[in-house]
Amino acid sequence: MKKHIAVLAGDGIGPEITDGAITVLKKIAEKYGHEFTFEPLLLGGCAIDAYGEPLPAITTERCLKSDSVLLGAVGGPKWDSLPGDRRPEKGLLGIRKAMNLYSNIRPAKLWSALADASPLKKNLVEKGIEIIVVRELTGGIYFGERGKYVDESMGETAWDTEKYSVEEIKRITKIACELAMKRSKRIISVDKANVLESSRLWRKTVHEYAEQNYPEITVTDMLVDNTAMQIVKNPAQFDVLLTSNMFGDILSDEAAQVTGSIGMLASSSLGDGTRGLYEPIHGSAPDIAGLDVANPIATILSAAMMLRDSFSLTEECDAIESAIARVLDEGYRTADIMSEGMKKVGCREMARLIAERV
Ligand code: NAD
Repeated sequence: MKKHIAVLAGDGIGPEITDGAITVLKKIAEKYGHEFTFEPLLLGGCAIDAYGEPLPAITTERCLKSDSVLLGAVGGPKWDSLPGDRRPEKGLLGIRKAMNLYSNIRPAKLWSALADASPLKKNLVEKGIEIIVVRELTGGIYFGERGKYVDESMGETAWDTEKYSVEEIKRITKIACELAMKRSKRIISVDKANVLESSRLWRKTVHEYAEQNYPEITVTDMLVDNTAMQIVKNPAQFDVLLTSNMFGDILSDEAAQVTGSIGMLASSSLGDGTRGLYEPIHGSAPDIAGLDVANPIATILSAAMMLRDSFSLTEECDAIESAIARVLDEGYRTADIMSEGMKKVGCREMARLIAERV
């Protein structure tokens, strides 16, 4: 199979971790007889430095011509003082929108070799944790109208809006239902329907859509504040967790931490077609950039999801996941998941070890 992959390494640790994923993808290509080509493109802070904008037109154009996109992370203190519309994150939101990627799937899985890395008590993690967060990605408050004004009595004031349409809710519910059908046939839908009008529409639409189209699926509602508690109190109760853009952003980081390290969590963003955007859920980690200590596993797992979800290469995806499990079972750890008696390795070495075991 021939595939052309756009690579948006981004900023901070982005180049190191995407290099790690490319090392593993090249090994997969060699072993299974595929031809993968990689096209580096600029996004985020590095694009601001080169083009004066976080999402240059050439990046969008080339991504839309690729078979899929692998992304590292964007942002860093260098660009923090720029106005909102010129910040690196604007590039990230822009490319998701340009590719019409409205779903973000974030599996938070506790690897058995890393059970000790979870901050939760042993009795809570021994039942296993695998929370598949399905987050709506192109609507809600991150894309709603916003503004700033000076209020006569309160002074400088700012506002943002949370807005969802039935169509937006239906299409993300479909993605969650498809996933749930391959798993436990249970969805927990998270909202704030006791306060927000947009959440009440969310709740009503999710139920109507699931009941009409996927009658075997059980949908349970959970308020977002309770969900934040339940993820640390009883994480095993979750399987597919469906939620809006902002709630998903926050809850997936919490789920990530419960499973050990943010450096282990992958994500895929998809729309109606097969071209997706695959990225780790963590940021650009400027505090460790360039030190060869970052954990590349989240990005390598994202590349594995690309093989499965965009290219239907399930066996190749499984080969990467098994290689990661083996490396962890053999005791290799990057600094973020290091524990006593384990063998500490850097970013490059971790990627090499995984590629070797593919
Ligand atoms: P972060 O995820 O970059 O880092 C949080 C902590 O986790 C840091 O201590 C970091 O060293 C550690 N960490 C993250 N990834 C790691 C990895 N692979 N291996 C080992 N340790 C890892 O979040 P932050 O510090 O809040 O943000 C830093 C920058 O990243 C900011 O500019 C932010 O806007 C940006 N950001 C980008 C994305 C993205 O590109 N998708 C997401 C979140 C944050």
